[in-house]
Amino acid sequence: MSLLSAAAVALFAVTAVPYVSYLVLYALIRPQGSPADKEPAEPTVSIVLPTYNEAQIVETKLDDLLALDYPMEKVELVVVDSSSDDTREIIREYFSDLNAPELVLLEEDERRGLAPALNDAYAAASNEMVVKTDCDSKLSPNVLREAAANLADDDIAAVTGQNVEVLGGSEVESGYRGVQSHIQQLESNLDSTLIFHGPFSAFEKDALLPIDPNSLADDTELALKIRRQGGRVIFDPAVEYMEASHSEFVKRRKQKDRRGMGLIRLLVQHRDALGRYGKYGRIVLPFNWWFMIVSPWLLAVTLIVGTGAAISLFGASGLVLPGLLGVFAYLGQKDHLGPVQALYSIFDTQVSLLRASVELLVGDSDGTWDVDAELREAFE
Ligand code: GDP
Ligand code: MN
Repeated sequence: MSLLSAAAVALFAVTAVPYVSYLVLYALIRPQGSPADKEPAEPTVSIVLPTYNEAQIVETKLDDLLALDYPMEKVELVVVDSSSDDTREIIREYFSDLNAPELVLLEEDERRGLAPALNDAYAAASNEMVVKTDCDSKLSPNVLREAAANLADDDIAAVTGQNVEVLGGSEVESGYRGVQSHIQQLESNLDSTLIFHGPFSAFEKDALLPIDPNSLADDTELALKIRRQGGRVIFDPAVEYMEASHSEFVKRRKQKDRRGMGLIRLLVQHRDALGRYGKYGRIVLPFNWWFMIVSPWLLAVTLIVGTGAAISLFGASGLVLPGLLGVFAYLGQKDHLGPVQALYSIFDTQVSLLRASVELLVGDSDGTWDVDAELREAFE
């Protein structure tokens, strides 16, 4: 074996160590669902809904919220709207002849970005449980009860849920979410999970903290800060939602790169949390550092070194190695990989995380983005 191929194999092996460790932990612990002592509870609820030019789908979203299995007298809806279309008129009209839930409509004249808008909405929310939901998601009817049951456990301060169906039919995203769900159950069982999902996250009102106005990972940032204050923040697969997603490689990049940037920046900002806060800082955060920051670079270097090794061994035909990866990516984005489709979705995520690191090194974002019109179609 040449020195180069030995290096490629070694690099790959090193990259894999934390993944294998997580698999071993998973096998030992066999986490099943939420680690909370769930108890039926019916707290008052503030549902926070941020909107930016959602006129096309906001009515469907409101129908969906009103159909939740919960006494609507105990619910207030806090909308923070930064639209330039008629989203807020549609909302006002919708509530004009409703007694419940109560509507609190915060109107922004100028779009400042999601994070500052959310800070205002969280400050305006007055109920015991505060639920944040994105406009382009559908929730299972029992989400509020499931979330409240988790928060009834004194140790638990926040809970997020699982994407059970990908609207728009992207197998790529659903493959990844399946893997992610197992990882997040393991993390929640150990202590707390890192990633909180925009379509549904629930927080105890008393635990809320302001988020960085530039944040591109608002839900996760809030959860991380709450964990640093001492509350556990967990993932419960019984809390179910649906979200739209693209399969095509290029279309997926924009959203995934932005989300990756938000998460990487957040981890770096909170690097002092490593090693603290029990298993959260000693296992969960280091694994996420590896997955989101270290492993994408190691894999890229492995690919370059591996290709170099193949060329030095087989000449030009060594180029089949990157060629095969190209075929894998091409079939993967078409959802044609059958049993190894989930592997492709991890690769796809690593690509976005690598691009996100580069984008972060090169420049920074102002915290606003174009809302994806095509994904909104999945809701009509
Ligand atoms: P993605 O799912 O990460 O691609 O993010 P979306 O574009 O779906 O946005 C998530 C939610 O935030 C949606 O309900 C948007 O309407 C809303 N949103 C996005 N940007 C802004 C903003 O600048 N202000 C407000 N108030 N809401 C926003
Ligand atoms: Mn969205």
